[in-house]
Amino acid sequence: MGAAAAAAAAGPGGGRCRADPCGLLCLLLTYLSVGYADYVILEHVLLQPGFRGSLWCPFHAVAFNLVVAMLLACHLRAVFADPGMVPLPETALDFSDLRSNTGTSSDTSHKSNQSNEDWTVCHRCETYRPPRAHHCQVCHRCVRRMDHHCPWINNCVGELNQKYFIQFLFYTGLASLYAMGLVLATWLWPADKSPAGKVDGAATEGGTSASRIHIAHRIILLVESIVFGLFVTVIFYDQLVSIITDKTPIEQLRHRLLKEARQEVSHTRKPKIALLREVFGRGFVICWFFPCNCSSPSPGGRPAYSYLPNYDV
Ligand SMILES: [Zn+2]
Ligand SMILES: [Zn+2]
Repeated sequence: MGAAAAAAAAGPGGGRCRADPCGLLCLLLTYLSVGYADYVILEHVLLQPGFRGSLWCPFHAVAFNLVVAMLLACHLRAVFADPGMVPLPETALDFSDLRSNTGTSSDTSHKSNQSNEDWTVCHRCETYRPPRAHHCQVCHRCVRRMDHHCPWINNCVGELNQKYFIQFLFYTGLASLYAMGLVLATWLWPADKSPAGKVDGAATEGGTSASRIHIAHRIILLVESIVFGLFVTVIFYDQLVSIITDKTPIEQLRHRLLKEARQEVSHTRKPKIALLREVFGRGFVICWFFPCNCSSPSPGGRPAYSYLPNYDV
């Protein structure tokens, strides 16, 4: 049982593909981008004529860094949280009967037995998995209510970390908007129009190269903010649609394929607020904005279930 041995080596909740080059590159890019944005805001926006010397300088410095701190906290939770990996059995399960029954099919890796409350069998993990769990090709594990594998968090987005992922998107969007606003403010209210700016402008007369560097950094930050801002807004919207329609992208695709095949798909329609609470927790709505477990969807943050359904093996 290769998968069981791998699970034992990975430990409980382990198995996430930490060594995925694409994921590691995206993590590095994320931290470099956030670090660069913070540097430009402090060094080339707030500490320059216009903001420098006014009370807005410390105010925006604290507020922007607060948003950045929340962004990083949510990102770290999304990266290191268990997305809801289906535990692997400690002892080998015998699926030889299922294999022989399905061996004629071209896809022998994933065969489901729909007769037992939609529990399925993953032959890659060599275990049973609960309804709505899917196998991730990058993590090499089945994940409960798997949404997708995200290289930006080098982890799957699943039942237990989707909240942190959406919070990360929210704070990234907020930071992008904030950075855009601050950069635009330096152009709308340039230094030479403010009393402090007149003094600084005279002092830096002739220092056009320094001014060009400031402008270059601001333009780069503006482009970065627009690109990342639009990117996270689209994903944030997709995530909300996925929650309130109670269908992950995988299930949406399956639904479309089944519809094309003219098969009826039955699903329970819950109220939107109930679906949102399943992801963000049942506590106060204010808790939805913090990467904490105080309003965890399930007690202890993990669903209690066995890896063995009521199969008659
Ligand atoms: Zn699997
Ligand atoms: Zn994954």
